[in-house]
Amino acid sequence: MIGLTHLAFGLLSGELFKSKEAILLSGVGSVLPDIDVYSGSIATKITFASGKNRYLKHRGIMHSLTVPLLIAVIYFALFGNMLILPFVSGYISHLFLDMFNPSGIPLFSPFYGKKIKFPYTVKTGSTQDYVLSVLFYGLFFLFLFQLF
Ligand SMILES: [Zn+2]
Repeated sequence: MIGLTHLAFGLLSGELFKSKEAILLSGVGSVLPDIDVYSGSIATKITFASGKNRYLKHRGIMHSLTVPLLIAVIYFALFGNMLILPFVSGYISHLFLDMFNPSGIPLFSPFYGKKIKFPYTVKTGSTQDYVLSVLFYGLFFLFLFQLF
């Protein structure tokens, strides 16, 4: 999925928490996993490892449930509350959508390396991707006007 689709779905899932701050946190969480697009290319430039580092490459460890769960545990240990939950929810919404990608994601990495995907897939940047994006933004604004 393109970043706009992830953001729309993250904002939409943030509405479950019924607060503006939660919607914002969920939106940030929903785009964070694709930071590995940049870390992978930077690592490649530094190490000349061209995609060989499975932790830094795109749809590597950042696309695993391990990262949002670790963030939640660390946040809870530091602050004693779960205010980070909308962020984690947005992050997981990204992983959910990326399981529609034809290449799948390593959902349980580093414990189980096999990439997981749904039987029905959507190519990044395809017509279906844009249709979903429009649909998610439509639903987001529809619910937004009902919430506030
Ligand atoms: Zn992704």
